[in-house]
Amino acid sequence: NEFAAGAAYVQGRFVPIGQATISVLDWGFTRSDCTYDVVHVFQGGFFRLDDHLDRFARSMEKRRLAPPEGREAMAETLHRCVALAGLRDAYVAMVALRGRPRIGGSRRPADCDNHFIAYAVPWVDVIPKDVQERGAHLWIASVPRVPDASFDPTVKNYMWGDLTSGLLEAHDHGFDTAILCDAQGFVTEGPGFNVFVVKDGRVLTPDRGSLGGITRRSVLELCAQEGIEAAIAPIPRALLEDADEVFAATTAGGVMPVSRVGTRILGNDRPGPLSRRLKDLYWRRHAEGWHNTPVRY
Ligand code: PMP
Repeated sequence: NEFAAGAAYVQGRFVPIGQATISVLDWGFTRSDCTYDVVHVFQGGFFRLDDHLDRFARSMEKRRLAPPEGREAMAETLHRCVALAGLRDAYVAMVALRGRPRIGGSRRPADCDNHFIAYAVPWVDVIPKDVQERGAHLWIASVPRVPDASFDPTVKNYMWGDLTSGLLEAHDHGFDTAILCDAQGFVTEGPGFNVFVVKDGRVLTPDRGSLGGITRRSVLELCAQEGIEAAIAPIPRALLEDADEVFAATTAGGVMPVSRVGTRILGNDRPGPLSRRLKDLYWRRHAEGWHNTPVRY
């Protein structure tokens, strides 16, 4: 299968992932003027596909990106990419790019040829499995998260580079990944995940500077079902450093325990009990067909 490494939809055609390319003139490339979403496929089913399509639609609207494909065509394209690649477990991306300005003509964003691309590749974990097992080591980045007033954090984009700067810094210091605080010292999110803090049996996640994560929403649903007290709240950096447990949450990896935050070692330097419980529950619910849309192979 020439699509085994992944299948992409670009310029109206399905191609093997290695052959999927865009123009050097595309503002999606030269100006990061794009937005995207990522949904996963677990054992042959999309998880919360409609929620991802909804968020993608909102992101496009906020950035005034309007590719010609409608929602149904986009959904159909995602199914096709997964089916072509023959994947049972996949990382599936949908991307809207500003496109090219008219050659020698208008430089107005509204006159660019906005376009939609998509691809499915084998499963990706933003934090590798073995690191999840021992608990990730989170570096507290020195770069502040870009203010919400400058760029709406609920629009998926890495345009400002702050999250990537945090990740580079984490790797320089031998950490697995990073967590960013805002300029006021409140915890926001990391490069590719929302974060949760457990303190005295309560589960907290930041109220600012972060994407409305769909995994975050799922974790809050699980807490409600299990009678675990949980809230979206301001989290000062000191609370993160003083947490009983910390875990990250994302489509590309699920619930991912953290065992160290900066120089602090949490508990016994292993994933904490509530983090492990929520992680197990998250995957057990998947196996039971929670929010599942079967892929049309
Ligand atoms: N924050 C950022 C910056 C992300 O890139 C992601 C990954 N999509 C998340 C949070 C987690 O969001 P979700 O659970 O919807 O994947």
